[in-house]
Amino acid sequence: MSTPLVVAIDGPSGSGKSSTSRGVATRLGLAYLDTGAMYRAMTWALLQAGVDVDDPAAVAAAAEHVDVRSGTDPLDPTIHVGDTDVSGPIRGDRVTAAVSPVATVPRVRELLVDLQRRAIAASDGIVVEGRDIGTVVAPDAAVKIYLVADPTARAARRAAEQGGADAAATEASLARRDEIDSSRAASPLTKADGATVVDSTFLTLDEVIDAIVGIVESR
Ligand code: C5P
Repeated sequence: MSTPLVVAIDGPSGSGKSSTSRGVATRLGLAYLDTGAMYRAMTWALLQAGVDVDDPAAVAAAAEHVDVRSGTDPLDPTIHVGDTDVSGPIRGDRVTAAVSPVATVPRVRELLVDLQRRAIAASDGIVVEGRDIGTVVAPDAAVKIYLVADPTARAARRAAEQGGADAAATEASLARRDEIDSSRAASPLTKADGATVVDSTFLTLDEVIDAIVGIVESR
């Protein structure tokens, strides 16, 4: 079996990873995996079960029993815990506030990285977005992108996506998650060796997608 083409897209919250990754996958006829949604689904399940998300031992123990299932169609990405569709609740404030602490727990990462590698291996080519795809999940990915944007632009985009939420509060929440994600011991957010940095601050979504499709096609 030949290794599938993997396009790894990492970067901080709000850099435009999801829309970009879905667009690139659609343009290139590849599958799409949103690993952030998997960490969010895990967090949702732990909160539902009443687990204290600031207790790493309790999180690690409870995580063993959580069945996260991701669909990989870029036109219709799905995320379930068991049979429950959690695509709505994982975007809520409760999950957003708790997801970064949950994602620092090494056992959570092991469980989800294992699922992510299975999804990659089962695909015929896939765009995978997250924080540690080029560094840990798929270090041999044919294409690695590190997508960045200026923090104010990221917050403005995220606030607009959330129907005009307070941009200053959104910027503070993104900065908090960036800080936890970049400073954690297990798989911190960092640019992978060999990754191409794409700065989306002054680009439209289509321009970012064009740039990455160009990089994939010229590899
Ligand atoms: O991408 P998204 O903002 O939905 O990710 C939510 C959180 O999940 C991130 O802030 C990070 O804490 C965690 N995450 C991670 N590793 C990934 C993807 C997401 O730790 N590969």
